[in-house]
Amino acid sequence: MTKEELLALDQANIWHPLTQHKTAAVPIAIASAEGNYLYDMERKSYFDGISSWYTCSYGHRHPVLIKAMKEQLDHLHHVVFAGMTHEPAARLSQSLLDILPENQAKLFFSENGSTSVEIALKMAFQYHFNRDEKRPLVVALEGGFHGDTFGAMSASGLSVYNGPFEDFFIDVRRIPVPTPDNLEQVLAQVDQLAQDRQVASFIYEPLIQGAAAMKMHRPEELDIVLKRWQHHGVLTIADEVMTGFGKTGSFFASDQMHSQPDIICLSKALTGGIMPMAITTCTSKVFEAFYDDELAKGLFHGHTYSGNPLGCAVANAAIGLLESVPIQEGITQITASQKDFVQSLQSHQSVASIRSKGVIMALDLNIQMQRYGYQRNQIFQWFWNRGLFIRPLGNTIYLVPPFTTQQDQLKTAQELIIQFLDGISSGAIFKI
Ligand SMILES: *Cc1c(COP(=O)(O)O)cnc(C)c1O
Repeated sequence: MTKEELLALDQANIWHPLTQHKTAAVPIAIASAEGNYLYDMERKSYFDGISSWYTCSYGHRHPVLIKAMKEQLDHLHHVVFAGMTHEPAARLSQSLLDILPENQAKLFFSENGSTSVEIALKMAFQYHFNRDEKRPLVVALEGGFHGDTFGAMSASGLSVYNGPFEDFFIDVRRIPVPTPDNLEQVLAQVDQLAQDRQVASFIYEPLIQGAAAMKMHRPEELDIVLKRWQHHGVLTIADEVMTGFGKTGSFFASDQMHSQPDIICLSKALTGGIMPMAITTCTSKVFEAFYDDELAKGLFHGHTYSGNPLGCAVANAAIGLLESVPIQEGITQITASQKDFVQSLQSHQSVASIRSKGVIMALDLNIQMQRYGYQRNQIFQWFWNRGLFIRPLGNTIYLVPPFTTQQDQLKTAQELIIQFLDGISSGAIFKI
């Protein structure tokens, strides 16, 4: 198919996510991807600076993942997961539990981050319900993002475009991200919210709020807040859909805290970007509240593709990769390089603030901008024209490179960012 034919069909037939079609640019046609690069229809390459929304952490078409997928295709690609089971799920359950925080005991499968959050919220509501308590409230962090389905959307604090749905939200209260400065106030708020036993769960993104433009917070204060919620009998839900699987330097961001969550949401890099899959994990304590002679105490939630064997097989292979020496070395090297980069740009004139955690680096430009809009698109285009794929959020530019990124590849991306910052300072790139 030529590029023109492809785009004609796209424009005629397709409704893209997160898009106002009247004003949006024509989408970019991608022909293929290999390693850490995307290729357009003219075979021009682009470094995948955000691992295709934090999924392709092992680059594109990693041979180990492709092999696992092909082998599984020869045996079983799909079967009902209610009342049936299979080896890929059994293997994955063990390899995942081996690397999860040690209090996690059970895995519930779905297909995307939003559903993993819906399931977590439902688990928490029903956990209390099954123990003869009705707790109708959820508490979330300000600026959090948890997905686009109703429960997840309700829990998200970035509801700029959620106007049409607000009347249907579940009841979510918000507390600020705890810092050394506000910790006492936040704890007072927690105590106040918890006092009449109405709060079912507290949901949070540990260490990094991704969609809030890679805002980072310290583990210490969050740890204290989690302990306080647990003291009040509120279930804690770590949304590790973005932070999971190595990006923060540990297998999970929760590994960097003392108190472990009751429930964890996983998706994105779970299968290395090959199959859409998600898992909600929980402790035995949570599971036991559902374990009963009474049918209705079970969790009556399920998706057609739950526990899909192809997804399980490739997720299992991805965990093997994550644990491997080359990938762990890659994470260590990228982490060090991002730290140096952050250090070197601390006092750059065009940088308002800059930070890194694990392989993730984010910087806020010293300019005011809208979250989405014309200027943001200009920044995207500037980098894209020079072979780097990033998705700026407002005035924040960030990198979440694949763990397979070579040092020179990362250097090239970082140097491009410096060139951009210098260009803003000198007024050479564009006037904002
Ligand atoms: C992406 C994301 C989600 C939603 O996942 P989808 O697969 O897009 O539904 C939820 N929580 C966090 C933290 C995310 O980054």
